[in-house]
Amino acid sequence: MSAEIVDGKKIAEKIRKNVAFEIQKLKLKYNIEPNITTIKIGNNPESNIYLKLRDTACEKVGIKPKNIELPESVSEEEIINLISRLNEDKKVHGILIQFPIPKHLSSDKLINTLNPKKDVEGLTPLNMGKTIVGDEYIVPCTPLAILKILEEEKIRLQGKDVVIINHSNIVGKPLTALFLNRNATVSVTHVFTKDLKKYTIGADILISASGIPKLINKEHIKPDAFVIDVGIIKTSDGVTGDVDFESVKNIAGKITPVPGGVGPVTVACSLVNMAKTFRNCMEK
Ligand code: NAD
Repeated sequence: MSAEIVDGKKIAEKIRKNVAFEIQKLKLKYNIEPNITTIKIGNNPESNIYLKLRDTACEKVGIKPKNIELPESVSEEEIINLISRLNEDKKVHGILIQFPIPKHLSSDKLINTLNPKKDVEGLTPLNMGKTIVGDEYIVPCTPLAILKILEEEKIRLQGKDVVIINHSNIVGKPLTALFLNRNATVSVTHVFTKDLKKYTIGADILISASGIPKLINKEHIKPDAFVIDVGIIKTSDGVTGDVDFESVKNIAGKITPVPGGVGPVTVACSLVNMAKTFRNCMEK
């Protein structure tokens, strides 16, 4: 039997409706327009595509996006000064740094400068720490999107065997915490894992975010597993994910497609976090 294909666009639409309502409520209460500012450094084509999608989504929920574009050659000191000014500016209700950033800049230093109250991506040590200890507030957008998908599909996580292929700060690490907070049993695998299949074959829920096309095929999948493909890879045939969709769809129970799966839900979750930082700034 063929797997059920999860409709990320539909889930994203539902999330956007709730965010639009929340933003409207805050605007009326405080009589102010939200100002969410993105710092974009250099000219990465994939970032440009993502920002275009995100800015359109912002408009749909009543947020006018503001992007500050800096040249590739900008110094770390200049960006840190900019972030500090935005931190202090009462008219700014949220800040994002668009990654990837040029190699001469330290992402840790930039993230550590952000005011956690305005940290839309939940990447500051305070927000990340809160996620780890189970006091989830501003959770990184992609892990939050994965959680929302599982919630929408009514998957109970307690006791489930979950395998994550990714150990990055924006995906694998916070996602591990979210699953542990819900009493799932989590295995985290990555590029140095000796035998990937040994882990994936036992997964009730498999999340793949390696960025390697067709890393995962039917040999890796437990029958009826829920397969969540986070990978976004541009190839000459268009955008693809980590999972060999045609092979895996005949064995998985549910599968998220690429495009149209995790991607749109991640954009919608970015809006969820914008509403949170907007509220943070107005209420405290
Ligand atoms: P990253 O390079 O920081 O992390 C990649 C991870 O994959 C690492 O943990 C690495 O060890 C692991 N990996 C690489 N090759 C592997 C292999 N052969 N076997 C097992 N593990 C392997 O990248 P990232 O920023 O975490 O993003 C990962 C992928 O997810 C990319 O394709 C990116 O475009 C995509 N992504 C998608 C969304 C979305 O909204 N859908 C959001 C963020 C990232």
